[in-house]
Amino acid sequence: MIEIITADITTLEVDAVVNAANRSLLGGGGVDGAIHRAAGPLLKDYCRTLKGCRTGEARISPGFELPARYVIHSVGPVWKGGDHYEPALLKACYQNSFEIALYNDVRSIAFPAISTGVYGYPKQPATEIAITCMLAYEDRFDRVITCCFSETDAGLYREVLAAQR
Ligand code: ADP
Repeated sequence: MIEIITADITTLEVDAVVNAANRSLLGGGGVDGAIHRAAGPLLKDYCRTLKGCRTGEARISPGFELPARYVIHSVGPVWKGGDHYEPALLKACYQNSFEIALYNDVRSIAFPAISTGVYGYPKQPATEIAITCMLAYEDRFDRVITCCFSETDAGLYREVLAAQR
């Protein structure tokens, strides 16, 4: 079951929240900053031991002070016009996040709209990739949640989901 909600992802009581991280994994702006603030300083200490993450890959950490048990850090592509492997890299983010979640017995997982903030990925194609991947994995989880930060974004997700079902 894919759920589309509008919320601050740091408040969700799920097994894992996905973070739209950067390659250093040491925190940044947007959802990354919010997750690091809410999880507390131990998250950064832990992430230091991971020694970074390449674009399209995913790493897992404890959630520390978050209600979520884990944070799955995935590094989305920076939008550079669309002919720099951005679609394949964004798809890889979702797939690798799902795979690392399955490996860690995660039953409920929440995603932000990876790459659509500071990284500038246009929302429509990013949402299509997110929904395609979620439909491919939804049967292996109890809950797959898209956590939008605005009602406008949630509306787009609902449209794309309706079109793809
Ligand atoms: P990126 O660098 O991958 O583009 P951003 O954090 O800038 O990541 O933005 C990704 C998405 O996360 C955007 O749609 C933004 O509105 C959303 N976002 C920002 N803060 C939060 C939050 N606390 N909870 C959920 N989504 C958030």
